[in-house]
Amino acid sequence: MTHTDVLKAAGLTEADLTGGTLAVHSPIDGAEVARVNETDAADMMAIIAKAQEAFRAWRQVPAPRRGELVRLLGEELRKSKEELGAVVTLEAGKIVSEGLGEVQEMIDICDFAVGLSRQLYGLTIASERAGHRMMETWHPLGPCGVITAFNFPVAVWSWNTALALVCGNPVIWKPSEKTPLTAIATMKVMQRALDRFGSEAPVGLVQLVIGGVEIGEALVSSKDVPIISATGSTRMGSVVGPKVMARWGRPILELGGNNAMIVAPSADLDMAVRAIVFSAVGTAGQRCTSLRRVIAHNSIREELAAKLAKAYSSLPIGDPRDGKTLVGPLVDHAARDKMLAALEKARSEGATVHGGKTVSSGVPQGGAYVEPAIAEMPTQSEIVRTETFAPILYLLGYDTLDEAIALQNDVPQGLSSCIFTLNMREAETFLSHAGSDCGIANVNIGPSGAEIGGAFGGEKETGGGRESGSDAWRGYMRRQTNTINYSDRLPLAQGVKFDF
Ligand code: NAD
Repeated sequence: MTHTDVLKAAGLTEADLTGGTLAVHSPIDGAEVARVNETDAADMMAIIAKAQEAFRAWRQVPAPRRGELVRLLGEELRKSKEELGAVVTLEAGKIVSEGLGEVQEMIDICDFAVGLSRQLYGLTIASERAGHRMMETWHPLGPCGVITAFNFPVAVWSWNTALALVCGNPVIWKPSEKTPLTAIATMKVMQRALDRFGSEAPVGLVQLVIGGVEIGEALVSSKDVPIISATGSTRMGSVVGPKVMARWGRPILELGGNNAMIVAPSADLDMAVRAIVFSAVGTAGQRCTSLRRVIAHNSIREELAAKLAKAYSSLPIGDPRDGKTLVGPLVDHAARDKMLAALEKARSEGATVHGGKTVSSGVPQGGAYVEPAIAEMPTQSEIVRTETFAPILYLLGYDTLDEAIALQNDVPQGLSSCIFTLNMREAETFLSHAGSDCGIANVNIGPSGAEIGGAFGGEKETGGGRESGSDAWRGYMRRQTNTINYSDRLPLAQGVKFDF
């Protein structure tokens, strides 16, 4: 299938693909596949006003009814899985199973949110005053601006949108300027769900805006967009977070990671190798949860390095549309330049680097293909503490678990982490208050590929936001504490007397 066939199969029309100012390139071969229309910054106020109007209607719809819209979205996604997955492959360069996996994640969060729509529970709280009852209620908060990164071009939107919709909030989505086509294709699926749902869903409930920083800024700085869920680099978050806070909005920040695996002496090394390879080279190292550091006990470090070198030597690198490929392209040539520069810096900091060369034969011309790299490091130097969005795996050694945990935590980011060990004391220490400082900590499983049932997000420069499962929905609602007096007296709390 040609690029155009893939896009047309996902419902994109000539009008969607031509005549605009935003050039879209496929990482597969660098080809320009579309010129997309960008949202005019001057229209942003009207778009936000439309979302506010939609909010006033949508919050009146009972939450389980709102869940019905998300159920229909899940159904439509099931029908469109192949076509949408193919656009993810075309536009983000993910291998076929990862493109499909991303759409599956959208379906999973829809299922989760449908159940959630009947479970937006508040507490009942014991009152210290006779004849009083206390409780908590949760109310919709208002339009939710969703700013997404190129590497999860559709799943992150769905994590936010499925929850925001059942919570009673409209959504305005600004996708990465590198991946507007997956966003347009997703909106077509959303529109089919809205059409089936009918007029109870107000106009402007889910809107798409396309463009760069200026369009994102319009959402970030508007008081009428109370929630900003922003996914991307820590650099972006460091700009967006304070701006949202300065106008008393609520930021949900999902930023960069620098995820590690501790491999203990008792670890099942073969399992560890499989987990390392998937987490470090899957999505060509372009996941926020990609494994970037292995901290191996010095007694097994060499053996592990040898096993990894063997596994890396057999990795099929190439066209992500080919079912045999495991490592597709980087998003663009700039990403490859950054990878090569990071490896140079690692060398200057004492690294022995394996792999990491540009691949130009047996791959589509025009794409940025690379060999995944392993860099054996003498210390956790500056480059190791930096997130380079590419398949570079730094290998470090340790002698004591305390030392390993200190290394794991001694980076600015705090997204995902894991330990491979068969020693229960080590595993539990790693998960304890004295262990990993990350939002995600796993035992005998890699740091990437989270399920939607858990809350997703991380600490420190990762931003502190939580999305997806568990009680992440609370981030999309406002909590109200209610005290009801059904007595004929007016006692004050804390025994305060105020008689007059
Ligand atoms: P990026 O920061 O370049 O862009 C992300 C989004 O932010 C884009 O839509 C961009 O237009 C927008 N943006 C940038 N500056 C902005 C501003 N000042 N105001 C408003 N919007 C602005 O990130 P990227 O290169 O697309 O994605 C890769 C990064 O995202 C990596 O650091 C990765 O770890 C991170 N990421 C994090 C998660 C997570 O859940 N923690 C998930 C995916 C990606």
